[in-house]
Amino acid sequence: MSTTVPLIVRLLASSVSVAGRAGKIVRDVMSKGELGIVEKGKDDYQTEADRSAQRCIIASLSAQYPKVNIIGEEDSPEDEGEVSSEWLVVDADKEILSIECPSFLQNVKEEDIVIWVDPLDGTSEYTQGALMLKRDPWERWKMYFTHPIISIKWYLSLLQSHYGFLEHVTVLIGISVNEKPVAGVIHQPYFKTLVDGEKKIGRTIWGLQEVGVGGYTPAPPPDSLVITTTRSHSNPIVEKALQVMNATQILRVGGAGYKVLQLLEGVASIYVFASPGCKKWDTCAPEAVLNAAGGKLTDILGNYYKYGASETRPNKTGVLAAVNNDLHTYALNKIPQELKEKLANK
Ligand code: AMP
Ligand code: MG
Ligand code: MG
Repeated sequence: MSTTVPLIVRLLASSVSVAGRAGKIVRDVMSKGELGIVEKGKDDYQTEADRSAQRCIIASLSAQYPKVNIIGEEDSPEDEGEVSSEWLVVDADKEILSIECPSFLQNVKEEDIVIWVDPLDGTSEYTQGALMLKRDPWERWKMYFTHPIISIKWYLSLLQSHYGFLEHVTVLIGISVNEKPVAGVIHQPYFKTLVDGEKKIGRTIWGLQEVGVGGYTPAPPPDSLVITTTRSHSNPIVEKALQVMNATQILRVGGAGYKVLQLLEGVASIYVFASPGCKKWDTCAPEAVLNAAGGKLTDILGNYYKYGASETRPNKTGVLAAVNNDLHTYALNKIPQELKEKLANK
């Protein structure tokens, strides 16, 4: 790779390539059927796909950019020894390499950068989507009985639903410079398209501040107010913040990455999550891509998160994102002061 290309552009190009490889790992783990689910905390799970995808991303990026601080969601997977050469990605996306770097990012050094990696955003949906892939009813029941997350209610709703939870799964790589999210990659491993009559799986969306976005077709927000929010981590405060919005429709989907994709593609206008559950690796890439597309992501109080390495991982005061400034201001004004204070003092 030419070193005359500015560091940020090279890093984004490498991230696009490695995100695609991580997405393949996510699909491969699912196809093998051994998810290796571990409970990290309440409503918080990890699978073999989360662990392996993170090892691939961190090993590949740190081999090429040794002084960049890379923080992943999963605990020290590098302790598990050498990463196989199959998982070491050295390619960089050619199209991204030809992007002209914005002047304010031209002289950025490795030491100024912190990368936040969520190797698999939407793990709940990933494990529940696994059920959809089991064609054999006996296999499905067996999985239900041995599954730590799914209740009978979930199982029935799954059977009734034709909506693929696997579409909610994303791989997130967020690049921050001096605490600000400036570039990001959202890879969707289960997105299906037809290209020249041929089936293609997976797509990679990227954004770079002052340059723009790529990998999808931008669309204006819906005519009426459509809000997107969590489907698996709700609570009374989350619901209260939704009630006050006067939305015509509330979509409940998995993952911070997928919800921001809905904003980018004109499916929803605002993403509201009044809860401390999201972490820096959930919002860094989505915030960077949304910014590059003209949107805005803050906490429920309207403050931006900082992405320096010493910042606390949880986004304690929730997430409020919108496709443009006006809709963001609308939502911010609707949220009652008392609710804002409740979250701020948690
Ligand atoms: P969701 O919108 O519920 O899919 O959440 C978006 C991201 O935040 C996912 O990575 C979730 O794992 C994480 N998250 C949100 N709420 C919680 C919670 N209460 N506990 C653990 N993780 C959470
Ligand atoms: Mg996540
Ligand atoms: Mg994750």
